[in-house]
Amino acid sequence: MIYADHAATTKMSEAAVQRMLSVINDHFGNPSSLYSTGQDAKEILEEAREDVAAVIGAEPREIYFTSGGSEADNQAILSAAELGRKKGKMHIISSAFEHHAVLHTLNKLKKNGFDVTLVDVHENGIVRPEEVAAAIREDTCLVTIMYANNEIGTIQPIREIGAICREKNVLFHTDAVQAVAHIPVNVQTDNIDMLSASAHKFHGPKGVGFLYVKKGIPLVSLIEGGAQERGKRAGTENVPGIASMATALKEASANMEASAAHVTAVRNRLIRGLKEIPHSALNGDAERRLPGNVNFCFEGIEGESLLLLLDDKGIAASSGSACTSGSLDPSHVLLAIGRVHDVAHGSLRLSIGEEVTEEDADYMIKSVKEVVEYLRGFSPVWRDLCAGKAKFIL
Ligand SMILES: *Cc1c(COP(=O)(O)O)cnc(C)c1O
Repeated sequence: MIYADHAATTKMSEAAVQRMLSVINDHFGNPSSLYSTGQDAKEILEEAREDVAAVIGAEPREIYFTSGGSEADNQAILSAAELGRKKGKMHIISSAFEHHAVLHTLNKLKKNGFDVTLVDVHENGIVRPEEVAAAIREDTCLVTIMYANNEIGTIQPIREIGAICREKNVLFHTDAVQAVAHIPVNVQTDNIDMLSASAHKFHGPKGVGFLYVKKGIPLVSLIEGGAQERGKRAGTENVPGIASMATALKEASANMEASAAHVTAVRNRLIRGLKEIPHSALNGDAERRLPGNVNFCFEGIEGESLLLLLDDKGIAASSGSACTSGSLDPSHVLLAIGRVHDVAHGSLRLSIGEEVTEEDADYMIKSVKEVVEYLRGFSPVWRDLCAGKAKFIL
């Protein structure tokens, strides 16, 4: 099986698994307990906090452990909104192709009186900093723009957007779930006030992530209870998961350069090969994209059928985002970059990791070509296009 869905989740690294097992077996205490077994677990926790902070250029006390990227996004946005409400600032800027953890939180805030501006992501899937600057108003309390998009892989000009927010004194949050440990991310040089990350996107365990919050910014708690995480996230800490996340993060960051070089080469090979399919198009900027992301639209087919047939050929891929597959709506990301419904339905995302070889890439190219041709063979939409009854878009 070729696993080409790293944007959905990744397999835990051996080191992350070993770390988790060793903490489960040998450091099972509750970090809030005062006796040594508890303090031993507390030490593991604080060591992980230091490691995570060091990787992104933060201070340990600026790291809050969460249950993952979604929780971190919710907490960051709701905290900034609460702060804004107190100052009478109830305007938030974001983009149309954010993850649903961001978009659904913004929808909730809209129902509670907030005004949300979504800046354009353009055909290349990249936000323009000057458009963010133009959207900022007197009452803007937050700008939240993702670091890299989870479907089309495009990397946003985060440093520039952050600089604008600093200058205008507006809080800046970024959902960096797809970026952390894949491309260089540093909260200081990138001018980031709040950042979300998730372990299972960088070969760590599922159900654990972190939120970076620049010191001095007050957080609201989503979960009430004990005083864990400086009173901002109640509940006994997931010590094995957190320790394992720190191990995975350190490992992935140390290997980042070499890994990205290989993954980028395989990605480019895939893009070159898939481009040969007639009436196809790469989604998102060809250069400013994550090393492992390939996303195409093929006219005249359904992405879902494509996936099932690729699965039969031993390829695990995705169409649209994992969260929306199963619904009939095309991906909100592809619609945001201007793909029409019919075209957006025929999308394929291959998100690859370090273990995928050039031979795997060639096999994937061959398989996608075969499957697209096969599906077009009995697609009424394709027949109409070929007969000139409808116009090709791609
Ligand atoms: C996966 C993902 C999330 C959600 O993270 P979880 O840890 O699964 O909650 C949020 N944002 C982006 C961009 C993602 O890719």
